[in-house]
Amino acid sequence: MEINPVKGTHDIIGEEADLYDDIETAAKLTADVFGYKEIRTPIIEHSPLFVRSVGESSDIVTKEMYTFLDKGNREITLRPEMTAGALRSIVTNKLYVSNDLPLKYFYLGPCFRYERPQAGRYRQFHQFGIESVGVKNAYEDAEVIILGKRFLENIGLNNVKILINTLGDQISRSNYKAALKEYFAKHIDKMCDDCKRRFELNPLRILDCKVADDKPFIEDAPKMKDYLTTEAKSYFEEVISLLKMNDIEVEIDDTLVRGLDYYTGVVFEYHNNSENDIGALGGGGHYKNLLKEIGGPDLEGIGLAFGIERLVYVVKNNLGDKISHRGLDLYIMAMNKEAIDASFHIKDILRSYGLSVDGNNESKSFKSLFKIAVRKNTKFAIIIGEDEIKEGRLTVKNLKTQEQTSIKVDDAADILLTMVENYMENEGK
Ligand code: AMP
Repeated sequence: MEINPVKGTHDIIGEEADLYDDIETAAKLTADVFGYKEIRTPIIEHSPLFVRSVGESSDIVTKEMYTFLDKGNREITLRPEMTAGALRSIVTNKLYVSNDLPLKYFYLGPCFRYERPQAGRYRQFHQFGIESVGVKNAYEDAEVIILGKRFLENIGLNNVKILINTLGDQISRSNYKAALKEYFAKHIDKMCDDCKRRFELNPLRILDCKVADDKPFIEDAPKMKDYLTTEAKSYFEEVISLLKMNDIEVEIDDTLVRGLDYYTGVVFEYHNNSENDIGALGGGGHYKNLLKEIGGPDLEGIGLAFGIERLVYVVKNNLGDKISHRGLDLYIMAMNKEAIDASFHIKDILRSYGLSVDGNNESKSFKSLFKIAVRKNTKFAIIIGEDEIKEGRLTVKNLKTQEQTSIKVDDAADILLTMVENYMENEGK
């Protein structure tokens, strides 16, 4: 009996995996130029880590966590996001003692949420994110938002809208929550069950409700900007003016609260500017209490995370047929048993020069080998037949120009390396 993949999971194969790899490479390079180092934390953590950080009123904790008891009866959760693990690691390893602040880390890897699968929404998905911990000012906040924008540009996404809001400081937030509570008390019985729960736990979360019938109540709700203290207001304005200084346009969205409870201060999201919106490409925000909440010192931070699946979706849509499929440098067409024998060693030598090489290990016709070479998006086909064996030479065919040359086996590696380099140069790569 065939075993199906788990609902909400997907296989990433071949050319699509190349696209993931390209995006992940761009992510690493972007993080690197902004001075971020990688942090790799376990996929499994003790469940209370997420309950305490992501928060009891979040959808993630209330209904989306993959939680189980291990054989030692410990409650374990597959990470639904990566900030909590990164911060736990900062505490575990006391990274704030041995390193200069802010601590700047990036991460990449799979996350798990028991959500209803739909376009751009999976149960296992991948995130790229960063955390800057230990320095609180508008420069740090703005720089993180800029990093996200530059990353998107680096993967060719220029038509992106950045939504931004502030959840203010402690005083602003508690005044605002009280105002929301008073307002929603009049409407909550007509709203969805999730909102009823949010009303009790954290009325801010109601603003994140996606239920269409609840929208009118949310639109008319009090606005955060009317409850900001002077300090919180000027901090927010400073972040926006620092973004402007770097030619980054943002749109203020006063219903933006994000889905995680730990945010305080600035929150933001990146959206693809198209009709086909599959949800935020990424988002993040400032967090004041998170590190302390999980047992660390009283240091604030700011972070963001992108969903790789959504980025791949948009990049694929934008590129259409223009997606460059990574091919082979060389495909060795060995025309008989003797040629297969010879090519077996030649392939090993060519690979040691860093060339990507494939070829046949079983006899096939010239025509079918040629087709394989083309299908594999090969730069040069190398033909080894009876004559080539006799003369100690290889026939090299440029599959783009169809030009053919003959080279000595003994010089092959150096010559082919140069030929591949010239080929790439002509392609502008
Ligand atoms: P969050 O950790 O909720 O702030 O989400 C950050 C980003 O992760 C989102 O903007 C999405 O791009 C991505 N993401 C979150 N949940 C999912 C999911 N279930 N499937 C795919 N991507 C997701």
